[in-house]
Amino acid sequence: MPNASDFSADLNISLLADTCRVPGPPGHEQRVRKFILEQVGQYADSYYEDHFGNLVLVKKGASETPFMVAAHMDEIGFMVTHVDENGFLKLTPLGGFDPKTLTSQRVIVHGKKDLPGVLGSKPIHLMDPEERNKAPKIQDFFVDLGMPAEEVQQLVQAGDVVTRDRELLAMGHCFNGKSLDNRVSVYILMEALRLLKDQALPYTLYAVFSAQEEVGLRGVQAATLKIQPKIALAIDTTIAFDVAGARKEEYITSLGKGAAIKLMDSSAIAHPKVVAFLKEMAQAYEIPWQTEILTGGGTDTAGMQKFTAGGALAGAISIPTRHIHQTIETVHKEDIQAALRLLCLALVHANQIQTHQP
Ligand SMILES: [Zn+2]
Repeated sequence: MPNASDFSADLNISLLADTCRVPGPPGHEQRVRKFILEQVGQYADSYYEDHFGNLVLVKKGASETPFMVAAHMDEIGFMVTHVDENGFLKLTPLGGFDPKTLTSQRVIVHGKKDLPGVLGSKPIHLMDPEERNKAPKIQDFFVDLGMPAEEVQQLVQAGDVVTRDRELLAMGHCFNGKSLDNRVSVYILMEALRLLKDQALPYTLYAVFSAQEEVGLRGVQAATLKIQPKIALAIDTTIAFDVAGARKEEYITSLGKGAAIKLMDSSAIAHPKVVAFLKEMAQAYEIPWQTEILTGGGTDTAGMQKFTAGGALAGAISIPTRHIHQTIETVHKEDIQAALRLLCLALVHANQIQTHQP
């Protein structure tokens, strides 16, 4: 058995920051695909992109049996629906935003070129008492680009996409920034490919950077129909509501307590064999771990499980995340390292999962 320090890697903060910075709202992941290929294309035996926008890197194993690992590369964003006569933009969301978190945020509008903008709304001074007590809606916001209407109209049109603008920040034992859902997992899967480059794997790894997860687990379904994995792991963020005011019964995971082994989310129940295998690996290699029961929110786990004929042995490794789907998402450094080690060890020892049906 390799010793417990195997696959421990120092965190590459600049790679994580770069990974979070690349804009890639659902259906517009081309810049993320290019970035991933530049970083880790060399570690794959082959790769392909499909019509859905998924990027699949294949690393051959001793057997051709497919082991699929999916990390969605899209981030929540917006599409411009309307450019008004004064040059302000109206938006529709691509993914699940909590409107109250959008007030006074900076965004980047991906028009003919990338343009900085701010999400504006009505000043509180002008709101009547009823308006002040109402939760904001996405429709209440507009993008102000700080330029005259004619200039805006030359650079931006309906259909252009918009992303959040926030640099990654090292904060205490954590990282804070936009798009850690799910770029932290993109980072983990890229680092796994690098760390495993000279490692023999029992099964053939399909490392899938999936598209359009945030609008309903769409890309992974198309990728799975082609790959038909026997074993499938999603890598994604999950809720850490371990903060001031949280009630005990609202617990999902805790920041800094280790990689979260998914038992279920609202779209999938992890296969007991996969759960048992991940727990065994974590215990054997002294990787901090916790379980995850995510009562609201789905993941690519479901797409892989359901779109394989006869079902895949599916589960997930999750990264506890505070302030998820906001511009200030927070993850813990040690949870990233734990999840990366657990993923690498699961891939190397995958033949210890009982793949026969009971
Ligand atoms: Zn996600």
